[in-house]
Amino acid sequence: MAQVARCGLVPLLGLGTWKSKPNEVQAAVEKALAVGYKHIDGAYVYRNETDVGKGIRSCIDQGIVRREELFIVTKLWNTFHEPGAVKPGCMESLSSLGLSYIDLYLMHSPMGFQKVGDELFPEKDGQRLTSDVDYIDTWKAMENLVDEGLVKSIGVSNFNITQLERLLSVARIKPLAIQIELHPYFTRDKLVQYCQDKGITVVAYSPFGAPDREFKNEVKDPCVLLQDPVVAAIAKKHGRTSAQVLLRYHIQRGIAVIPKSVTPARIVENAKVFDFQLDKEDYDQLAGLNKNWSILPASMVAKLQKHKYFPKSDD
Ligand code: NDP
Repeated sequence: MAQVARCGLVPLLGLGTWKSKPNEVQAAVEKALAVGYKHIDGAYVYRNETDVGKGIRSCIDQGIVRREELFIVTKLWNTFHEPGAVKPGCMESLSSLGLSYIDLYLMHSPMGFQKVGDELFPEKDGQRLTSDVDYIDTWKAMENLVDEGLVKSIGVSNFNITQLERLLSVARIKPLAIQIELHPYFTRDKLVQYCQDKGITVVAYSPFGAPDREFKNEVKDPCVLLQDPVVAAIAKKHGRTSAQVLLRYHIQRGIAVIPKSVTPARIVENAKVFDFQLDKEDYDQLAGLNKNWSILPASMVAKLQKHKYFPKSDD
């Protein structure tokens, strides 16, 4: 078995599945596992866990991978923050994925939402129905999932430093990892340094700026990471693609990265990032592109920023 490059326990490269349609994600997972990915990133809210699970199962059944080699990640959605809802939320994901355990279970956000039937984004009169359940209480219920063997490790996503500090001061089980938006337009140096100092593995999401996100047109400054001339020039210099340079940037920062693709050739391309090296000049140029640009449109931020646990940037 080829050695898998990791940061801590987390394989450095994973396949993202947000926006992957149920009818295409099974094939994407199968392709990824066939070409050596071990880490698959999912979430309850992506509504495709059943098909992600089918892809995993078919590769195990065909002997392409063994369950123990895989690092399967999914996330507790915001409507399951009540401590009593955490285990049912986890059980739903396990059942959809067809797995007996999850390798890393992340709290998708510090911000809970009210539970209104099966609504994922409950709203009333255009306002998000938020809940003030403390993420510390949610975390304690997640720790119990580790004790019960339903998840091997737990972590968080979209937390800021203040929230992490508060969590670390009471956590019985330290978060293994944090998943955050990261790319050369949003380098978040302070948050990354904080996590690395505390031994929390950082996982970068939206490494290409999520060019397939639905709300793209709402953003004034469209993301052109994959077309950025600085990135393109570095790619040309190394005989690589811009996508590969954007992924390699994280790996050299000691950060895991989870590009999403449902295109077989891109799934292969995105995995070829362990056989070249960015030099200091390339790396500094990429870091110099930072403009604190996020994929989140102002309209979405506006709906959430009154939330008691809105993760204001402390970078
Ligand atoms: P990415 O930045 O990974 O971009 C995905 C887009 O890039 C798709 O349109 C894909 O197209 C395209 N693409 C992939 N590879 C290439 C390539 N080599 N060349 C050109 N285009 C390419 O966006 P995501 O936001 O999806 O981020 C990745 C993952 O991170 C998510 O899927 C999800 O798992 C996770 N995530 C977590 C969040 C959280 O809150 N914790 C939030 C956002 C993401 P195609 O598929 O058509 O090939």
